Formats: sequence, structure tokens, C-alpha cells
Amino acid sequence: MTTSVKPRPPRKPLLYFGVIFFGHLGLGDALAAPARRDLPRRWVLLGTVAPDLLDKPLYFGLSWARGHRGLGIVHGTRSFGHTFLLAGLVWWAGRARGDARLKGLALGMATHPVLDFLSDLAAFGPAAAARGSAAFWPLTGWGFPVPTYAGLGEHLRALASPVLLSCEAAGLLWLVLSAAAGRRAGRSGPSSTSNGPSGRA
Ligand SMILES: [Zn+2]
Repeated sequence: MTTSVKPRPPRKPLLYFGVIFFGHLGLGDALAAPARRDLPRRWVLLGTVAPDLLDKPLYFGLSWARGHRGLGIVHGTRSFGHTFLLAGLVWWAGRARGDARLKGLALGMATHPVLDFLSDLAAFGPAAAARGSAAFWPLTGWGFPVPTYAGLGEHLRALASPVLLSCEAAGLLWLVLSAAAGRRAGRSGPSSTSNGPSGRA
């Protein structure tokens, strides 16, 4: 009797890690600006990072609770929070209750998977970006994306990737320019509000 050992397929490149924090806050805020109108900006900002605040504890909590075995459809740190479905439900709840905070939260949430996809697209190409996106769940199947990390080294290399660093720098720049525009607007009159670097982006 002979046993054949199949060679393991080569690891695919890292699927996600394109945008971390300032990238989502700043670029998400910029992306939401045309639709924001009179929605409260701080809730939009919270929404831009809310998917990670939901999904990372969910995944790591499940992993810890179940010893990395049988996490069901949650395979990584992009799951329910990274879907347009959840953002849509929050928007709908905001509309039904007449609550601008929830609508702002939903708008920010909707920018998150868009930025994740664009950064993955720039870093890894269209196929990996599509595999790593949970945005259209469950239309794309019940299982959420599976990260393919080859180890801590790959994590750290991804954190230093030019795409990620560019997104973080651009997001931070937007926030700094917004704050400066807000201060200028504050000096020029109490009724002025800041929506971006131009004061009205
Ligand atoms: Zn995310």
C-alpha cells in the first residue's frame, strides 16, 4: 500500500489589513462628506470604525471561547459588521425612529467595506479584494472571508505596506485639515460648521 502526500497549495497573499484606523476615520469621513449633510459628524466618524469594533472582538472572542474550533460562518475579523446589510438595517432603524445619530452611524459604517475593498484592490488585486470582502453578505454565500496569514511576520509586513501607510497618512491628513478648517470656521462665526478641509466638503 502506498500513501501519497499531496503538497500543500501555496499560501495566497494576505487578504486584508488594507486600512486600519486613521485611514477609516479620515478617508471614511471624506467619503461620507457629500452625503452627510446635517447628520452628526461624530456619529459618522464612529460608524467608520464601528465594523472593526464589532467584528474583531466577535472573532477573537469566539476563537477564545471555542479554542479556534468550529467558529461557524465567522472565519475572521470581517463578518456582520462589515456588511452593507447591517449598515442598511441601522439606517432603516434611524429613519424609522427619526434618529439622525443612527443614520450618521450607518453612513460611516457603509464607508468601511468600501475602503477595505479599495485598499485590498490596490495591494492584492481584484480577485483577493473580492474574496476578502464581506460587503454583500449573504449574497456572496453564508461563510465570511477567511484570512490567510502565514504568520506573525506576514502580519507585520502587511502593517508596513505602502498601501496601508498611504491610507493612514491620507486619513490623518484629512482629519488634521478638517480640524483646522473647523477652527477657522469657529473664529469666523458661531453658526459655522466644519464638514471637511474646505469647511463645507
Ligand atoms: Zn475592517
